[in-house]
Amino acid sequence: MGATIEQQEISPKVQEWIDSVIKQDEIDRYLEDGKCFIDEAAIWRYLEENSKPDDARIRDIIAKSRALQRLEPDETAALLHCTNDDLWEEIYAAGLEIKQEVYGRRIVFFAPLYVANLCVNNCAYCGFRRDNKAQERKCLGHDELRDEIRALVSAGHKRLIMVYGEHPKTGADFIADSIRIAYETKVDNGEIRRANVNAAPMCIEDLRKLHEVGIGTYQVFQETYHRPTYEKLHPQGTIKGNYLWRLYALHRAQEAGVDDVAIGALFGLYDHRFEVMGLLMHAIDLEKRFDGVGPHTISFPRLEPAVNTPWLENPEHKIRDDQFKKLVATIRLSVPYTGMILTCRETPDMRKDVLMVGCTQIDAGSNIAIGGYKAAAIASEKQQFILSDNRSLDEVIRQLAEMGLITSFCTAGYRCGRTGEYFMKIAKAGKVHCMCMPNAILTFQEYLEDFASPETRAVGETLIEQEIEQLPVQELKDHVRGLLARVKTGERDLYI
Ligand code: SF4
Repeated sequence: MGATIEQQEISPKVQEWIDSVIKQDEIDRYLEDGKCFIDEAAIWRYLEENSKPDDARIRDIIAKSRALQRLEPDETAALLHCTNDDLWEEIYAAGLEIKQEVYGRRIVFFAPLYVANLCVNNCAYCGFRRDNKAQERKCLGHDELRDEIRALVSAGHKRLIMVYGEHPKTGADFIADSIRIAYETKVDNGEIRRANVNAAPMCIEDLRKLHEVGIGTYQVFQETYHRPTYEKLHPQGTIKGNYLWRLYALHRAQEAGVDDVAIGALFGLYDHRFEVMGLLMHAIDLEKRFDGVGPHTISFPRLEPAVNTPWLENPEHKIRDDQFKKLVATIRLSVPYTGMILTCRETPDMRKDVLMVGCTQIDAGSNIAIGGYKAAAIASEKQQFILSDNRSLDEVIRQLAEMGLITSFCTAGYRCGRTGEYFMKIAKAGKVHCMCMPNAILTFQEYLEDFASPETRAVGETLIEQEIEQLPVQELKDHVRGLLARVKTGERDLYI
């Protein structure tokens, strides 16, 4: 059974575990001449040398992105220094156009599921940090986990991001068990078809265990790429204090066979231009080492308040809304083929605005308290931070449908092996939506049949009709109509 657990001081046994986590040879093997791919001096040089781009250069860069080519660091640095508001409007428009070209008018939905908040680390900005005595500690037991999954599945979710702190009680075996439970738990027509994981960096052997149970995407955010800031915010002597162990977490994942990996930075910890450059360098290094397979998604969470976390009261590098929109658009243009995740940390208005510069995935109906879905309550002392968009899944889906965006719960690509190198090839060729739009339509119809309110169903069915008409060839339209008819008579999980 799960239980509320008082966070203990670090016992000798836990300390022994902490000391055993980092495998130095699983860092050293990736260094080049002893150095990592984040070269602080080079990043500042790119930023300085491209600090006054003229309009023609910015337009050339936009054109390169529109051709679905990844940008080079000097080009991203130039975008970050654009000061012409008219050009920013062109950048936003290009971001949306690129996203539509690669992914179509569909948005993938997921839900975060916080499984445990035990953590041996002490990150200054985090409500789950070890020294935060105001935090109630909890680790879901199997029955409690099933309850959470049933609550999520009953709302219509098919895709999770399962979140864990770093602690010996929630290591790789625990995570693998919880993924298994997520896939096994069904409610009527509902089930989880894709369990992504956000967890601490692991060694290759542990990552293989997650690969074996069918982990979806493995997310590890570097938080900040600026090493002096990283070392200030993540105390030395903690596992997370090791910058390089975290920096190469996704390289190890690739070696372990987990070929969908996700990067991110926590914006507000340091200068946002440096962080965007860091994300680009990370994407470039993954592409270079793993046959062109860059990050499957990029996340760009902003700092949010958390209970009893004074560091968050006045952060020096807090990001304004206008800066945030610009940095998201810059990431979109810099890595045109990659999924981009916009979360409920942002307000509904901000999400509506920023979604349209090229994001591909959002969450909705989210609850980040441990056990919060079944309890249907959000208590601030149980959360890692405070969410800003608390609308239901149905409300958000309806809003998107009114904006002409179709909700996708599709997970077929993963289950058909369209991951890693294969996915990157079709994404870079702008062909994801030829398969994904029909599958989005089919999963959207499932949602409308099983979970939607009457209002959402009405808007959704009109949109589906329009989307079928937009499919490129008659044969495909007929095929999708045939599959849709089968969904309407009760068949589920149909895809092409
Ligand atoms: S950010 Fe992650 S590693 Fe750091 S204290 Fe919070 S849960 Fe632990």
